[in-house]
Amino acid sequence: MPGSDVATKTHCPYCALQCGMEIGPGLAIGPRTDIPANASGALCQKGWTAGELLTNGRRLTTPLLHGEAVDWDVALDHVADRLAAIRAEHGPDAVAVFGGGGLTNEKAYSLGKFARVALGTSQIDYNGRFCMSSAAAASIRAFGMDRGMPFPITDLDEADVVLIAGGNVAETMPPFVRHLDGPRLIVIDPRRTQTAKLAWLHLQPTPGTDLALALGLLHLAIADDLVDEEYVAARTTGFDEVRTSLSSWWPERVERVTGVPVHQMRQAVRALAAVGKAYILTGRGAEQHAKGTDTVTAFINLALALGLPGRHGSGYGCVTGQGNGQGGREHGQKADQLPGYRKIDDPAAREHLAGIWGIPAEDIPGPGRSAYELLDALGTPDGPRALLLFGSNPIVSAPAADHVAARIGALDLLVTCDFVMSETAAMADVVLPVTQWAEESGTMTNLEGRVLLRRRAVTPPEGVRSDLDVIAGLAGRLGHTFETDPAAVFDELRRASQGGPADYSGITYERIANETGVFWPCPAPGHPGTPRPFLDRFAHPDGRARFTPVQHRPAAEEPDADYPVYLSTGRVLAHYQSGAQTRRIAPLVEAAPEPFVELHPDLAEQLDIAAGDVVRVSSRRGEGRAVARISDAIRRDTVFMPFHWEGANRLTNPALDPTSRMPEFKVCAVRVERDS
Ligand code: SF4
Repeated sequence: MPGSDVATKTHCPYCALQCGMEIGPGLAIGPRTDIPANASGALCQKGWTAGELLTNGRRLTTPLLHGEAVDWDVALDHVADRLAAIRAEHGPDAVAVFGGGGLTNEKAYSLGKFARVALGTSQIDYNGRFCMSSAAAASIRAFGMDRGMPFPITDLDEADVVLIAGGNVAETMPPFVRHLDGPRLIVIDPRRTQTAKLAWLHLQPTPGTDLALALGLLHLAIADDLVDEEYVAARTTGFDEVRTSLSSWWPERVERVTGVPVHQMRQAVRALAAVGKAYILTGRGAEQHAKGTDTVTAFINLALALGLPGRHGSGYGCVTGQGNGQGGREHGQKADQLPGYRKIDDPAAREHLAGIWGIPAEDIPGPGRSAYELLDALGTPDGPRALLLFGSNPIVSAPAADHVAARIGALDLLVTCDFVMSETAAMADVVLPVTQWAEESGTMTNLEGRVLLRRRAVTPPEGVRSDLDVIAGLAGRLGHTFETDPAAVFDELRRASQGGPADYSGITYERIANETGVFWPCPAPGHPGTPRPFLDRFAHPDGRARFTPVQHRPAAEEPDADYPVYLSTGRVLAHYQSGAQTRRIAPLVEAAPEPFVELHPDLAEQLDIAAGDVVRVSSRRGEGRAVARISDAIRRDTVFMPFHWEGANRLTNPALDPTSRMPEFKVCAVRVERDS
């Protein structure tokens, strides 16, 4: 698999920072310094070792039909025939599509079009539902638009104070930390994470109580006369309702609920209010809850009261996780959405897309099931009987994973497109080996909303095809013509997004290359792009941001006599998402070889568990085993497990947020025992 003789400028295969990277002769990886996210020349260990993904010996290169190698025509004919037969017998919604937040914009767009046009199904969603949906819903509620961080990451370099609620960037995307060298850092996290260790102030709430904490912070801001009344009057609506709704969240009550001392809350809110340049950021720790949308809303309410969003030098943003978590939620692989971040039930949006796709608007299906609801319905009498899976590994990454595995096992047809034999691919009737990352070109939209170009740097191994080829190959067999060239798909995406909130119509591959990325919205070829979309007005029709009153409530499952300990889940530096890629990279396996359970010394003593013991952790949904790590970085009432291996998500609770349909990954009740 030779690389080019000259270095190719591209981006990392993993997280939403999308660090600029060069791939040189011999697949030598090095950082680019022209991409602001990592202009410091930093990459994390995952990035430095990414070249090994391209030479990995366990790479899939042959289509598999019931485990037997077959040629591409046999595989695609079989899939198309089975899809057509299942549709004919059970209707179009009997076939489902599940995408991923790591897919390029072109793939996400093509997949959404394939589902709606070629399959005629409403049953499409993606794993980004498990990542960004609560922050996205809260941003749309408050600002009228969701563009994760609505400012360039380099704005953080100049900040005086940054508060991160539930984000561990020092482990998940270490180069991010270079942008936090200057500001005072406040971290909210039940664990003393690597990021919390860098903080000037660490608030360590009980799992599942971030919402109460945010209410308490705003209560204090009001009580201590720290609200920016001029900004609130000029740029927002709804503050009086929020002020009234907070009356019962006096600080001592919040301390009782969260465990965070009042003086720490007061320190945090005064620090944020005392300076001109302050940012509030949220991550999955605050968002992955059955009340995640309201939790983020409460932090946005705080940011609005302090006058932060929509000003140069301050703001609110969410720290998107997956590589294309931002673009992946804009172009139509979400159950309720059409390209350009349009709503699928908006008649004007349906007319626009019908014109691009050459079909009547009434033929575009309506909204389908959200990710967990889709997985939960597989193989049931009213649910899908066939599933096409692109770039996702739900057996490891979905909540209540044993149940999800049973539902997947009940399908008549499972087809996976992957480049490694993931745990889910191992269950598939048909496995289609596809190109990855540096073997193909396409655009990614990073956590700032900057559209970037990932260039093909190496020749793919013989036998693999791109996801776009697979989609077009199936569409062709079902009577539809789809583009396979990424640039041609991007041109169609530009037209499809035109006039929508995420308008890419002025962005071209050439511009991205020449300008090291272009921020959306970019509604015309001569438009400069929009690094800070809310400076003049927010995206609601009246241009004002919305305060929304929200109330705290307990986690969907609190500890009790049978399951007396909180479980929280998260990441480690060496691995990415379900680990399907990183668990195959030798240096990363060496750095983090196995799952672990982190528990406080007092809890360990109470349970007679020593460091290195194998521990059984069980919840009402399943059990997992992992090695004990004893650490006073975690609360006494909580254990932590990383989710990059099978195990953690056997335990997690699929209770869903009513707005975003986000499962409650971050808190559930478990029992912890030494495995005898
Ligand atoms: S994983 Fe993220 S932080 Fe690490 S090199 Fe890749 S893009 Fe950068």
